[in-house]
Amino acid sequence: MTTRRRFIFMIPASGAVLATACSDQATPPPAAAPEAAPAAAPMAAPPAPEPAAPPAAPQASGSAPMLDEADPAAVALGYVADTTRADKTKYPNHADSQSCANCGLYQGTAGADAGPCPLFAGKQVAAQGWCASYVKKPA
Ligand code: SF4
Repeated sequence: MTTRRRFIFMIPASGAVLATACSDQATPPPAAAPEAAPAAAPMAAPPAPEPAAPPAAPQASGSAPMLDEADPAAVALGYVADTTRADKTKYPNHADSQSCANCGLYQGTAGADAGPCPLFAGKQVAAQGWCASYVKKPA
């Protein structure tokens, strides 16, 4: 009996505690807000900026695709991957000794099979190639 009575008395008391707790959450005391703001300030520091992505590296000449002879820009300049196949009728000044490798516009490294040419951006031309814009590389 003692336990049951004690339980019955506890119900109103816990209800009062619960009601008080709920009302405290709904309306926090105004004095708590100013204290919380300075404490929260260091926590609200702006996140560190993410490291910027590195600038895109220039595409290595070895990874650029080869210029296709059928490419409209290549056709317009009579480009061939093998200088000996140049149209000698259309380009009478062509000589088989002329090739991209000894052209002043060629940007490939010496001895490489292919390299960039500013006339065909983003593509590689064959070192043994040729086009009508050939200019002898200065000695
Ligand atoms: Fe080759 Fe020179 Fe013509 Fe470029 S300009 S495709 S390097 S011959």
